[in-house]
Amino acid sequence: MRDGTENGSSDVKTASKNKRGDLPEKGTGAISRALKALGGFFYRLFYVVLLVWETKPLILFAMVFMSVFNGVMPILSAFISASLINALVEGITGAGDGFGNVIGLLVLQFGYIILSNMVKKINQAINRTSNELVANHIKTKIIKKAKTLDLRDFDLPDFYSKLENANKEAGYRPLNSLASTFSMFSTIISIVSFIVIISAVSVWAPIIIIAISLPSAAVNFIYKKKDASFMRKNSKQRRQMDYYSQLIVNKDLVKEVRIYGLADLLIDKFSRTFRKYYTGLKKLVLQETFWHLGLSVISSVANCLIFLYIAQKTYYGELQLGDYSLYTGALNSISTGVATFISTTATIYEGALFIENLIAFMKEETTIVPSVDEPAQPSSGDHTIEFVNVSFRYPGTERFVIKNVSFKLSPGETCVLVGLNGAGKTTLIKLLTRLYDPTEGVILLDGRDIREYDVARLYSLFGIIFQDFGKYAFRVDENIAFGGISKGIVDADVRTSAEKSGASGFIEDLPKGYETPLMRLFEDDGIELSGGQWQKLSIARSFYGDADILILDEPTAALDPMAEQAVFDKFDSLSRDKLTIFVSHRLSSATSASKILVLESGMLVEEGTHTELMDKKGKYYTLFTTQAKRYMENGAAKETAGA
Ligand code: ADP
Repeated sequence: MRDGTENGSSDVKTASKNKRGDLPEKGTGAISRALKALGGFFYRLFYVVLLVWETKPLILFAMVFMSVFNGVMPILSAFISASLINALVEGITGAGDGFGNVIGLLVLQFGYIILSNMVKKINQAINRTSNELVANHIKTKIIKKAKTLDLRDFDLPDFYSKLENANKEAGYRPLNSLASTFSMFSTIISIVSFIVIISAVSVWAPIIIIAISLPSAAVNFIYKKKDASFMRKNSKQRRQMDYYSQLIVNKDLVKEVRIYGLADLLIDKFSRTFRKYYTGLKKLVLQETFWHLGLSVISSVANCLIFLYIAQKTYYGELQLGDYSLYTGALNSISTGVATFISTTATIYEGALFIENLIAFMKEETTIVPSVDEPAQPSSGDHTIEFVNVSFRYPGTERFVIKNVSFKLSPGETCVLVGLNGAGKTTLIKLLTRLYDPTEGVILLDGRDIREYDVARLYSLFGIIFQDFGKYAFRVDENIAFGGISKGIVDADVRTSAEKSGASGFIEDLPKGYETPLMRLFEDDGIELSGGQWQKLSIARSFYGDADILILDEPTAALDPMAEQAVFDKFDSLSRDKLTIFVSHRLSSATSASKILVLESGMLVEEGTHTELMDKKGKYYTLFTTQAKRYMENGAAKETAGA
């Protein structure tokens, strides 16, 4: 996101440097890039080891044990089988030491089978539970990280891509890569041991087998890289698919989706997006399969020729029958071992590429932090707020939505922010509460830049009800106590807040009163509240935290003007001695305010009391008289209709 040093851009820079440089420099560049890539690869692998270790060290120990066990056991098995065949042949030819030898070897062989089956089953059980544990650990890490991220991150599509990629892979990718890493070690142990065995017959055989596997390895790596970049590029499509399917089942939208008949359109969009995504994926898979098929024919032919060579030696008596089984088995094991080695290293490589998403997400920096080493603690009680030449544009956009705004609010003032939709009222509140930092200018709280305060303490000063306030599928008391979670659920305070906001009336009528679960997402006896009831609950929430500065950002938009006025009056009288800010485009609420700020296209165009601004006959006057006229007309129309 903000970290512009993406691999791609640094590659481009290196490439352009090389163009100007001579050949040796080009070589050095390639080597240093390769070393950097290798370093990056091991760093990512180390990151995965750390993730698994953080989850449960036992998982790591089990993996190490399994890798040694799986590496050594096939060699033991091959030796037992060869000795068994040789003992049988010696028996047939009369050169053996008796049947006891065969029995001993058979007991060993079955002992091996029983042991490896048991270990395999135990390993499967450990794997299943470990997957869940590691995935849960990573998801918890992601949620905890998301908690610290800036609000500005949530405005950027790239953020959602990173989040989606990190989340998507968390389930299986890390443990998969690590399991592959360990299985790679066991494969190496097997391959090396079998190479030593087969060298007795031919030094060339293992070299040929390994050499013909190299192109297949290259194909594997190239396509794993292509896969990873395909997945990253198509994160947008996958998120779109999630979004379309979520829209259809979204509780808040289901009404509109039904009435407007949007479901078919969304399903169609979902299918189209999938087809686009799938076409790209299919192309990649087909290309890779084509390469592998061709290469596997070549390697089978080479294998067959080496088998012929060993068969010939056995046929003419240079090798025993048991040796034939040992050597051909070794050859098979080397070629499958090499294939496994290639595919597991490719899987590790791919896993490491995906882990990069998680690492990138976890590295995301938070900018909403104190600007000084020792942040100040805001005092409680009265506060002064001052905006000094504040301008702001949203991250990733060019347009200033707040332009050079300056004003001052004194303790106990009641301020009303007015302006048309899109004037910048909510943005101003987001700046004041430090959800975003201004692009230019400063905001002072009690004479000090708000960036110098401890962020959590600063947030605790505000009791705020946003336009789109939260509706939580929790109990009623929890919904209220969320306004001041630091003190927990204090029954008496919950009730007082509900009484102040006017919510206590309907709460007491609910089947379980304050303990009633809300929404029917999880509980059969969950209660659905009306818009107005949710609103009162959110107002109660803002009172619960004993905040010093109360902010009401048009949460009453759904109410009629009379009801809105009642909420404002109540809010105003209850927050008499506190600094209070109302945001409204209904101006009736502004008449009693000690200060009215009129915003237009991000600029503060007027400031004063109702009387002052009416006398001025400017923007406020025009807005107010237009609205008053409309209400009077509506009122008259209603009265006529009523008559
Ligand atoms: P108001 O509250 O006065 O209706 P807002 O403060 O919500 O206005 O919006 C002011 C302007 O900022 C609008 O043009 C809006 O489109 C833009 N805006 C609001 N939120 C964002 C955002 N997260 N990213 C980019 N632009 C935004």
